[in-house]
Amino acid sequence: MLLTSLHTHTNYCDGKYSAEDMILAAIKYNMTSIGISTHGPTPFISDWNIKKENINKYINEINFLKEKYKDSIDVYLGMELDYIPNIGFDDTSKWLMDKLDYYIGSLHYLGKFNNGIMWTVDYNIVELLQGINEGFDGDTRLAVETYYSYIGEMAEKYEPPIIGHLDLIKKNNKNNILFDESEEWYIRAVEDCLNIIKNTSSIIEINTGGIARGYIEEQYPSTFILKMIKSKNIPIIINSDAHTIDGLLCNYDEMYNLINDNKFNKISYLSNDGWKEKLLSI
Ligand SMILES: [Zn+2]
Ligand SMILES: [Zn+2]
Repeated sequence: MLLTSLHTHTNYCDGKYSAEDMILAAIKYNMTSIGISTHGPTPFISDWNIKKENINKYINEINFLKEKYKDSIDVYLGMELDYIPNIGFDDTSKWLMDKLDYYIGSLHYLGKFNNGIMWTVDYNIVELLQGINEGFDGDTRLAVETYYSYIGEMAEKYEPPIIGHLDLIKKNNKNNILFDESEEWYIRAVEDCLNIIKNTSSIIEINTGGIARGYIEEQYPSTFILKMIKSKNIPIIINSDAHTIDGLLCNYDEMYNLINDNKFNKISYLSNDGWKEKLLSI
């Protein structure tokens, strides 16, 4: 098992601990590497994204910690950058891409409320329902299809090293309140998105963060999507999306069992020589 996570948050965004605390915990857990991936800046006010004025401090701090702990663990400087409808990655995000060891391309924001404020798919069901009502005339299917089409667009235009929590839109779909993942249109929306990703260099993450925080019982993406990913031979990585030190390796045993059960034979990881693949014995 590769004890690593390239998706971790700190108190530069909505994480609960400092980067150094996360790194020290990773060393304690015998992890071989950790990537710090604070939520990147957005071109509008957000209380869970890094503030623009803190970006240089963040880069300097992670690079300092990388050096400080290099004999104990490989530390990578990353960010989870927001792909924003009708903007894409904003200029600051594009500037950051060259400064970072890697980034995760994620879609949290799906549209604007009538008052012009951007709403996210993952905050809570009230915000999601209001967003679908105001941005998509209450048409849930259109909202979900649009969500997946933006992820496909992001992959095609930018080929992010890692695509974050592919099916985040299911987070607030408890008891299928909005849609049923087995519906034909839903599967087709996912499939169209994967068909774009498979022609890029992007890696799809298996993300246990929703489980760690008690929001969902299944990882992102759902197991039926993982089977599609395997059949299309798209590379995968396992990440915890940890917001606390306790979540750093959440459900890794279960995720390795899952990828073994689904006959994945390799897993991607970041090394000091770039991206590599580790063969898994089945
Ligand atoms: Zn995210
Ligand atoms: Zn995250």
